[in-house]
Order: sequence, then C-alpha cells, then structure tokens
Amino acid sequence: MYLVDSHCHLNFDGLSSRLPEVFANMAENQVRQALAISVSRQSFAEVLAIAEANDHIFATVGVHPDQEDAEEFTVEELVRHTQHPKVVGIGETGLDYHWCKGDLAWQHRRFACHILAANQSGLPLVVHTRDAAADTMRLLREHQAHAGVIHCFTENVEVAKAALDLGFYISFSGIVTFKNAPDIQAAAKYVPADRILV
Ligand SMILES: [Zn+2]
Repeated sequence: MYLVDSHCHLNFDGLSSRLPEVFANMAENQVRQALAISVSRQSFAEVLAIAEANDHIFATVGVHPDQEDAEEFTVEELVRHTQHPKVVGIGETGLDYHWCKGDLAWQHRRFACHILAANQSGLPLVVHTRDAAADTMRLLREHQAHAGVIHCFTENVEVAKAALDLGFYISFSGIVTFKNAPDIQAAAKYVPADRILV
C-alpha cells in the first residue's frame, strides 16, 4: 500500500527551503506522490517548477478564493496551462465566506471561471469551501462541473451526498479526528472508501 497526498503547498514558506527533507519524510511514510496546489499566478509558477524538477510531484493551476485583489486567470489561460503534462487539476478554487465578507460576486465569477476551464480541459477541480456549502454546490451544479475533490471536507452528510452525486471525491484532513467534529465523522462514515482522498 502507498499514499498519494492530494493537497499540499510545497512552495510555501517553511517547506520550500527544505524540500529534500520533505521528500525523504514522504518516502519514509509511503507517500509516493503529491499534488502541489496553486493559489495564485505567482504560486502556479512555483509549484510547476517543483513538479518539473521532481517526477513524483504534480501541480494544479488556479487562484484561491480568499484573496479579492489576486490577479485572475482567464478561462483560456487556465485551459492553456492544463496542456502541460505535469498539470493534473484546476484549483484550488471555490468559495470562502469565512475570510471574505460583503459583495462576493467577484468570488462567484472566479469560481465559475475555474469550473468552465475544468469542463473544457477535462481535468478535475480542487474545491475549497468554507461557510459556503450551499452556494458552492449550487455553482458546481449550475456550471455542470463533472469531477473533482471537495478538499479538507468540513461539512455534513447532506453536503457529502450532494458532492458524491456530482461525481466528486471527498478529502478529509486531520480535522476529522477532532472531538468536536461529529458531523465530519458521520460524513467520513457515509462516504464510500473508494471516493475518499487524503
Ligand atoms: Zn490548500
């Protein structure tokens, strides 16, 4: 048995300066491959460079929902970047009503742009959702999203079911072990093992 880390930020401070050590820890713990997640135009360049230099690392392309002033990718740009052989997903994208308040039309537009790029390229979406499950699922349905993962899942069985119905995978993080997370634990019991990522 071996593991694939479906969501890491190898270009972030604290990791980027000690990649050999991180890779050694991965090997020691049977983590054979990892997906380095883009959160901005700048970080896409960084994660792609790491993926190009390391056979076992892959990358996504996208802009995270929690920075209003981040420079956007157009749908065309996203699709063009997916033609790179090491780019295997679109994101992370989604909605975040915890860190962002007020008129969030810009966040909805950015999310829609990523969904359209995923549809055009055929690559799966990496979806971040925080305090925004209803709108996240609504936009995925409205734009006919077909595949992806709801990452670091912190919702309930109902949302898990809606995501599974759309063909999505669910990824659980260490939060599922918290004593005050019975809803997430119930969702983890509900989701079939072959639809769970870590
Ligand atoms: Zn992330």
